[in-house]
Amino acid sequence: MGKPRVIYWFRTDLRLHDSPALKAALDLEPSAFWPVFTWDPHYVYRVKVGVNRWQYLLDCQNDLSSSIRKRNPKSKLFVLREAPQTLFPKLFKAWNVTHLVFEKDTDSYARERDSVIIDLAKKAGVEIITRYGRTLWDSDDVVAKNGGKPTMSITQLQAAGHKVGSIPRPIPAPDHLPDPGEMPVNFDQDQPDPEPDLNASHRIKEEKAYHNIAGPKDNFAVATLEELGFPTATTPHRGGETLALKTLDKIIADAEYTATFQKPKTSPTAFAPQSTTLLSPCLHFGALSPRLFYWRVQDVVDGYGKGASKPPESLTGQLFFRDMYFAAQAAVGAPFGRAVGNAHARFIPWHLPTTTKGDGRYHVDSSQAETWVRHWAAGTTGFPFVDALMRQLRAEGWIHHLGRHMLACFLTRGGCYVHWERGADVFEELLLDHEPACNAGNWQWLSCAAFYHQYFRCYSPVTFGQKWDRNGDYVRRWVPELERLDAKFIYEPWKASQAALDKAGVVIRGDGEEGGESEGNKKTYPEPMFDFGERRKVCIAAMKTAYSIGLYGDDERVKDGTWRAL
Ligand code: FAD
Repeated sequence: MGKPRVIYWFRTDLRLHDSPALKAALDLEPSAFWPVFTWDPHYVYRVKVGVNRWQYLLDCQNDLSSSIRKRNPKSKLFVLREAPQTLFPKLFKAWNVTHLVFEKDTDSYARERDSVIIDLAKKAGVEIITRYGRTLWDSDDVVAKNGGKPTMSITQLQAAGHKVGSIPRPIPAPDHLPDPGEMPVNFDQDQPDPEPDLNASHRIKEEKAYHNIAGPKDNFAVATLEELGFPTATTPHRGGETLALKTLDKIIADAEYTATFQKPKTSPTAFAPQSTTLLSPCLHFGALSPRLFYWRVQDVVDGYGKGASKPPESLTGQLFFRDMYFAAQAAVGAPFGRAVGNAHARFIPWHLPTTTKGDGRYHVDSSQAETWVRHWAAGTTGFPFVDALMRQLRAEGWIHHLGRHMLACFLTRGGCYVHWERGADVFEELLLDHEPACNAGNWQWLSCAAFYHQYFRCYSPVTFGQKWDRNGDYVRRWVPELERLDAKFIYEPWKASQAALDKAGVVIRGDGEEGGESEGNKKTYPEPMFDFGERRKVCIAAMKTAYSIGLYGDDERVKDGTWRAL
């Protein structure tokens, strides 16, 4: 047998440092080595991805491509515009491939996709090599050490992780990469697409931009936003391994910040700079290895001595939360992202339990709930702190963890009583760091469906903001209509006197309109969409009832809809 001809398939591991899978590929000493990224129709079409996350992905790809080129001028990241399920069998044959190597991914869609690819490779006689590198520990190993169960608390994660063993030290990036082989893509036209014949792959063929799998210029280039038909991105946050490593260096250089970090003491209203690391998008795209992040922090902590913070509040503790959600998802599989069918999430009959009319049943007024969701998602609820957070998220694709708490609690059990899946969908579109496990898991936490149960502890859109930022500078930054309003009213402008509103040049509109427009030389801002104090009481009472009914997502009565009669 000749020397290995290896495709390295980059996915959510857009880096060269600390990549066990990449190392395994290079250890084969290939005679031909193709670093490849394939357009995945799941990502391109099925998952909602806003323009900011697209830009971040393209940044990561461009940076990786130039890092590859620096290590071998004949190589780069070769982007192929076709679904991996239909593309790989053709590449295996045309490029005479012996090995396909990739980083393990335990997301439920990725597992499904990868098992198809593994089967196709077997049929083509191509050897598959995978290694984990997306988390501190292999999530499947964590689940095994947790008795096959999802990790539903940080203590369970830490105990299971301890049993798996110590977190591996990061491995350096390679100095050199082998030459790619020849890359014909003029596949035999008669060759049928192999099973599964995904509809999405046909859609790809119909799309002009994707018509040629090597890109419009046949050069396997990273796409541009313009070519993809997107407008300009609005986020100031840019992606790529080079930038991620520089950001980490800067954080680590501040030993006191790194060693004494306590998450609950970081502020959701801090901006320019933010109070936490903002490394989550780098971790999501794999531009930063979580194990490098962990060990660089831990080494500082070990050298710091007394006064260093500890998990779960410390920086390493934050990475444990990430691993907790990944392992929970790895155990539960696809139902982790939903309420129905998820045995580990309480089933809560969301929407509007406005009144039980004495018969003990929920009466859902979903048109009202839809209006509230629309205002929440647009940042026009009339609660300035909530609106500021949503507007920052829309513009920048990132908000602080406690800001996410506020938005999620308000939409679900602490205001609107709307299903957490609706909020998770909006976050999925807008977040730069959208991670299926972390998004679904945190929404379950905040809505008290799983992980956390103290539903009577709600975030007030007034006092929670005031706690961090009494003057309301954060609100002024994101809700410019209220920029000139006295600090006394900045979180509750509906309480301001006419004179105070006139002085600030603002009109509070009560007609359900969005606000932000000009009325003469004044700006408008909506009145609050409900009385928060009243809604809080209604929500807590409804949660109490839901908890006492005690249904979980896998209950037959949930699946067949008979819970409505309870
Ligand atoms: P830091 O505080 O600097 O923490 C360092 C790293 O630890 C983060 O980069 C992140 O990877 C990890 N981390 C910290 N907190 C959490 C947490 N609670 N859960 C999981 N990982 C954590 N995080 C995502 O990465 N993707 C998501 O899709 C996501 N959706 C969320 C949805 C809701 C409703 C909530 C409340 C939180 C969500 N989070 C999500 C978790 C958290 O808000 C972000 O990870 C964090 O704010 C990222 O900012 P940072 O990098 O500055 O975090």
